[in-house]
Amino acid sequence: MRTQVGIVGAGPAGLILAQLLHLAGIESVILENRSREYVEHRVRAGLLEQGTVDLLTEIGAGERLKEEALEHHGIYLQFDGRREYIAATEITGRSIHIYGQQEIVKDLIAQRLGYDGPLLFEVDDVAVHDFDKHGEPRITYTHEGRQQRLECDVIAGCDGFHGVCRPAIPKGVLTTYQREYPFAWLGILAEVAPSTDELIYAHHPNGFALHSMRSSTVSRLYLQVKPDEQIEYWSDKRIWAELQTRFALAGWTLQEGPVIEKGITPMRSFVTEPMQSGRLYLAGDAAHIVPPTGAKGLNLAAQDVRVLAEALVAWYSTGDTAQLDGYSDRALRRVWRVQDFSHYMTTLLHRLGDDPFDDRLQRARLEYVTSSDAAAKSLAENYVGLPEY
Ligand SMILES: Cc1cc2nc3c(=O)[nH]c(=O)nc-3n(C[C@H](O)[C@H](O)[C@H](O)COP(=O)(O)OP(=O)(O)OC[C@H]3O[C@@H](n4cnc5c(N)ncnc54)[C@H](O)[C@@H]3O)c2cc1C
Repeated sequence: MRTQVGIVGAGPAGLILAQLLHLAGIESVILENRSREYVEHRVRAGLLEQGTVDLLTEIGAGERLKEEALEHHGIYLQFDGRREYIAATEITGRSIHIYGQQEIVKDLIAQRLGYDGPLLFEVDDVAVHDFDKHGEPRITYTHEGRQQRLECDVIAGCDGFHGVCRPAIPKGVLTTYQREYPFAWLGILAEVAPSTDELIYAHHPNGFALHSMRSSTVSRLYLQVKPDEQIEYWSDKRIWAELQTRFALAGWTLQEGPVIEKGITPMRSFVTEPMQSGRLYLAGDAAHIVPPTGAKGLNLAAQDVRVLAEALVAWYSTGDTAQLDGYSDRALRRVWRVQDFSHYMTTLLHRLGDDPFDDRLQRARLEYVTSSDAAAKSLAENYVGLPEY
């Protein structure tokens, strides 16, 4: 089989890229190693920047989102027994939107299959070859028991943190920057109406907690736990009790409901530079991971492929490689801005250890960001997403 762009991975990055290319008349084939059922039900991100909503709308995948997404205008920061509001929309003029990542993935898959765009699920043994500048890029894989080969002009590695594209880049090309955090997130989905109109980020002596939501009937809640915590030790009863402790506030009640999903996510910051090698381009989690406190991973993946698609369109229409050559530099500018913000939110809100000095600093920062217009503006503009990056 031959195509112009071979895309590995049908997560948000791969699917958005394919649609951007399709609209520009560029062919692509997406190879995904999981089943359609699996990728459409993988519960992950849920908070979209205005720029991501605009992009999804532009590519024709915004219809259901427009109907069902919850529009938010700020966040609550809770500390020292008080809850303060950062009015992000009032400060920046931009909103944030709550819409599950799995819903975006469903919408994009339906759109792709609606025009018979090539998208293969359950492919195995995916490997990328010969992608150096003068090579002839190809992807080999097994599908329905048969070995296959996809020849292409370029390969887009949109296969997430554990994918095969980044490790295929020859030794010595990439530099990685990373930080592991001494905690993880225990997340639950619960069948109960959110107890809050906007997200609550709580700093508590027991650790961080986040009250988010997926719809008017489903809540998403997180607890900071030890990095090696075992989910088996956390009964639903224990989870709710700990959430009640960390969110406790006079005059406010956290409503409980049946837990329909729970899991533990490690926290890390990771960037690989450059995000390209020859004719292989990495995008999304394949190139970088942010701790979820800033709610940026999906948004960043969407912006990477926007930049990559623009560069591919320029190359196909003019033959000029300047934008493609500059893809990584352009994408990394935003990646590092977002890394900094995600690290800031993470270290502002989590219990970092047993040193009381850290705790006093965090409280001073929370006090500052909730009382200074300048500090609140900085948090708000990063939270809703900086359009110019
Ligand atoms: C608990 C949690 C909460 C989060 N909350 C937020 C949030 O609120 N806001 C936000 O913006 N981000 C959030 N994120 C991050 C966000 O989910 C990711 O950044 C996003 O999924 C990145 O998209 P992607 O397409 O780059 O990668 P992925 O979604 O990981 O997609 C990669 C795809 O490639 C496939 N694949 C992997 N290996 C292969 C292979 N060898 N061959 C073929 N296919 C392969 C995978 O199956 C997958 O479908 C959260 C993440 C987690 C875990």
